[in-house]
Amino acid sequence: MQSQTDVVVVGGGVTGTAIARELSRYQLDVVLVEKSPDVCTGTSKANTALIHAGFNADPDKQKGRLNVRGNELYHERIQHELDVPIEWRGAMVVATDESERPKLEELLAKGQDNGVDGLEILEREQLLEKEPHLTDDAVAALWAPTAGIVNPFELTVGFANNAVENGASVELEAEVTDITKTDEGFTVETAKGEIDADIVINAAGLYADEVSKMVGVDDFEITPRRGEYYLYDKQFDIDIDTTIFPVPTEVTKGIVVTPTDEENLLIGPNAQEIDDKRDKATTRQGLDKVLEGAQKTVPDLTKQDVIKEFAGLRPAIKETGDFRIQIEEEVPGFINAAGIQSPGLASAPATAELVVDLVEEVRGDLEEDPAFDPNYSGPPKVRHMSHEERAALIEEDPRYGQIICRCETVTEGEIRDAINQPVPAQTVNAIKRRVRPGAGRCQGGFCGPRVIEILSEELDVPMTEIKLEEEGSELLTDEIKQPLLEKSREGSEVNADD
Ligand SMILES: Cc1cc2nc3c(=O)[nH]c(=O)nc-3n(C[C@H](O)[C@H](O)[C@H](O)COP(=O)(O)OP(=O)(O)OC[C@H]3O[C@@H](n4cnc5c(N)ncnc54)[C@H](O)[C@@H]3O)c2cc1C
Repeated sequence: MQSQTDVVVVGGGVTGTAIARELSRYQLDVVLVEKSPDVCTGTSKANTALIHAGFNADPDKQKGRLNVRGNELYHERIQHELDVPIEWRGAMVVATDESERPKLEELLAKGQDNGVDGLEILEREQLLEKEPHLTDDAVAALWAPTAGIVNPFELTVGFANNAVENGASVELEAEVTDITKTDEGFTVETAKGEIDADIVINAAGLYADEVSKMVGVDDFEITPRRGEYYLYDKQFDIDIDTTIFPVPTEVTKGIVVTPTDEENLLIGPNAQEIDDKRDKATTRQGLDKVLEGAQKTVPDLTKQDVIKEFAGLRPAIKETGDFRIQIEEEVPGFINAAGIQSPGLASAPATAELVVDLVEEVRGDLEEDPAFDPNYSGPPKVRHMSHEERAALIEEDPRYGQIICRCETVTEGEIRDAINQPVPAQTVNAIKRRVRPGAGRCQGGFCGPRVIEILSEELDVPMTEIKLEEEGSELLTDEIKQPLLEKSREGSEVNADD
């Protein structure tokens, strides 16, 4: 790892990677340090993945203003620049009783004040035309066509890869353990060695309070607020096309029912304050509440065809309920991007824009790098290709004809691409985040051994050293026996008509 840089960004979630990419537009040396073996292993990997339209955003709060600007930036730039799945499916807030109609009117007015385009109130018949599975109790809804869904893994990896392509460095397994203020700037101690920097940007998610304390800024705490989910199989026969919210109350936004970018159905999250920042366990009670909440708008939902339950932790600053993105005046050059709870994903490009302004405030004018290229292309996705495109790709490289994950139609070529990206996938989960083997119905039961074998070949380490995710998560105590690998290869050629 280099020992000197202009800017260190701490944390490789969607916030830190978006910031690193935005800084790579300028003639600045940028190093992002992440404690895990991959980016997108914190809150950015477990959320509802909505690019909120901003109709419920509070303009008096940083998170409200950045949500609205973030949504604009996804429309204007990000969807064109990064090769990341974003779908503008729209969102509806469904009133199930006439008494809730005034709340719809209130949200409509608030959204219009925020400059959100296309908002309108839809009546029952129009709603049922859009979403036939909606409850019979639906009376009207606020419709927000500018709301979207995004793949949060590919988004975060896309920001990180594009930052590296533009000259930034991403150091994985480089946990920041201390930061010392020096006359020239900062010395950042990491698990990979020391690095001197003029500016430090803290985007450490749930741990942002602890990183901030390292420089003596200790006037806020991050409280984890857990949200639980059910994820349904793609074959599920309840088709939902848009994101469905109930009418929010003072206490909660309610349980969302939404498709994902890969056509699974997702329901959740609830909200529960907890003490332990590592506690991502789901609870029976919480999940029951999630299903009950989802049935309020889509009563046909059951637990049948659920393929996964999971939880994410919102990094909330309870006292303000807001983001804390600011230069810390008592430590010039230290910028916090902390308390990035929801809508942190929707806000990420705007958060990055704001942080660049703050860096400019610290350093003076930033000079643009004429070589900056905002465009990033990910590996080919065989499952989304036409027959002709598949045939041409397989002709070029037969490894795109070898299916490793049958549930998600992921080929050997795509897995090898993931391992050889600018920010390389080095664990089983890092590959799953980038190209999806193991994300389908069998959850890796069939393809797991082959993914381990390919990782072992590409990284040139024994299979017993291949990890699921963090240090200590090695999956095997012994090499996989050849007959088992042969078995998982059987019948795995791509049928170009699939
Ligand atoms: C249940 C739930 C639902 C949500 N739904 C939405 C939604 O639909 N739309 C939306 O806009 N937002 C949503 N959010 C919010 C959104 O997910 C977060 O705001 C966003 O992901 C935060 O990203 P981050 O990069 O700030 O944090 P993280 O993704 O947590 O990244 C922080 C990174 O810092 C690293 N790190 C920590 N300490 C150190 C250290 N000492 N040294 C080096 N690295 C360190 C961590 O390993 C981690 O990778 C939701 C959140 C939750 C929990």
